[in-house]
Amino acid sequence: MKKAEDFSEWYNEIVEKANLTDKRYPIKGMNVWTPYGWKIMQAIDSHIREEFDATNHQEVCFPLLIPEDQFAKEKAHIKGFDSEVFWVTHAGLNPLDVKLLLRPTSETAMYPIFSLWVRSHADLPLKTYQIVNTFRYETKQTRAFIRVREIHFFESHTCHADFEDAERQVKEDYDVLAVLSKKWCLPYRLLRRTEWDKFPGAFYTVGIDTLLPSGRSLQLGSIHQYMENFSKPYEIKYEDENGEHKYVHQTTFGMSERLVGAVVAIHGDDKGLVLPPEIATTQVVIVPVLSKGETETVTKAARDLFEELKASGVRVHLDERDVRPGVKYYDWELKGAPLRLELGKRDMEKGKVTFVRRDTGEKSLKDRGKVVQETKQILALVAKDMFVRARKEMDDGVATVASLDKLPEKMIRTGWCGGEDCGHEIEAKSGMNILGIPVDGEKFDGTCVICGKPTRTPVYMARAM
Ligand SMILES: [Zn+2]
Repeated sequence: MKKAEDFSEWYNEIVEKANLTDKRYPIKGMNVWTPYGWKIMQAIDSHIREEFDATNHQEVCFPLLIPEDQFAKEKAHIKGFDSEVFWVTHAGLNPLDVKLLLRPTSETAMYPIFSLWVRSHADLPLKTYQIVNTFRYETKQTRAFIRVREIHFFESHTCHADFEDAERQVKEDYDVLAVLSKKWCLPYRLLRRTEWDKFPGAFYTVGIDTLLPSGRSLQLGSIHQYMENFSKPYEIKYEDENGEHKYVHQTTFGMSERLVGAVVAIHGDDKGLVLPPEIATTQVVIVPVLSKGETETVTKAARDLFEELKASGVRVHLDERDVRPGVKYYDWELKGAPLRLELGKRDMEKGKVTFVRRDTGEKSLKDRGKVVQETKQILALVAKDMFVRARKEMDDGVATVASLDKLPEKMIRTGWCGGEDCGHEIEAKSGMNILGIPVDGEKFDGTCVICGKPTRTPVYMARAM
C-alpha cells in the first residue's frame, strides 16, 4: 500500500487497517465507528465544544425529524436538498399525515423554534450549536468519513440584530477555525463560493478547502451568511429599542467527520496513520525492550515511566503485550501514535530513554530524569511541524496559470473577472469546479483567463475528492 502510487486505494485500506471504521454495515455510506475511530472523532468534538463554549455559544440538540411543510418554507433551500433527503412516510402501518424527513442539516428544524425564542433585541445575539448526525443521500461513490450518507456533523446557528453583527460572527468563526486547525494540523483556504455554488438559501458561502496529496480538494466545512433569507420565511423577528419589528440576520458554520478523513489523508503515510498530538487517543506509547534475565527490572522501570507520564497529564499507554518489540512498533505506527518511548536495559544503564517521532521517524536519546519535560516539548514540536509541513504541501500544490490548456493535477489559481459567463466557461474548459475567491484579499494582478479583462481577483479551482 503506497500512498504516492494510488492515493485512493491507500486511503480506503488505511482506514480499515488502522481500525477507524467498519464498513461492513449493510447500508452503503453508513459506516460503524469503531472505538478507536470514535475516540478520535470525540477528541475533535471536544475541541469544537471548547472553542464554541468559549465564544458564548450554547449547545442545543434538536430533533432528527423535520416535517415536510417546515422544510418547504425556504424555496432555494428545499430545491438544493430535495434530491438528497431520506423520507419517513409511515408510522407502523399507517401513512403519516405530514411526511417527515431526516435532517440533512438543521435550519428547518431550528428556525421555527428560533422564531419563538427570539422576541426582543435583548435576546440577541442568539448563538447556538449542536453536534448530531445528519443524513444526505450521496449519489457519488461513498468513501469512509469523506463521502457518507449518515454524517457526524457540527453546526452552529446564530441570529443577529443586523447584517454588521452577523458579519462580526463570520469573522469570529474565522478566528475559531484558525485555532482549531492548528490543533488538528489541518491547513485550509477560505474561499467564497460562486453564486451558483453557494449553500441553498445563503446570501454567501465561504468554503473551507484543503488540498489532498492526490491534487484534489477536500471541503472541510463552510461558513454561511444568510442575511434575512431564512428569517423572513420562518418569521424570526425581534422588537428593537424603538419598538420596531425587524427580521434577524443569521449565520451558520458547519463541519463534519470529514475532518477525520482529512487528518488521515493529509498526514498518513505508507506505515499508517500519523495523528496530531491533540487528536491522538494515545499520544505516547511506551515499549519495554526486554532482554533475558532483565525482564523484571525493565518492566518495573517501564511501569514507573508510565505512571510518571500519566500523572503529568499525557495520554500514555504501556504496551506490555507478549509479542516482540518490532510487532509493537508496527502496530503503533499503523495506529499513528505521535511518540514512542523505548526502554531497554542498555539505555537504562546510561540513564536514558529512546524517543521516536512518528511523523519524521527521528530517534533521540533523552535523560530519564527529564522525560516528562522532553515529552511535552516534543509533542508540541510534532504538532507545529505537522501543521507547517502540511501547509507547505498545500501551498506547493497550487499552480498559478494564465491558460486553461494542459492543467496539472493540482489546485489551480487563475484570473477571473467575476462574470458568471466567464465562470461557467472556466469550469467547462478546465473540467474543474471553481472553489471561489480568497476572502483574505490575497494580492493578484492579472487578467481574466477567458475574456482577458484585467482583474485583481484570483479564483481557485480543483477537482473534488
Ligand atoms: Zn471574464
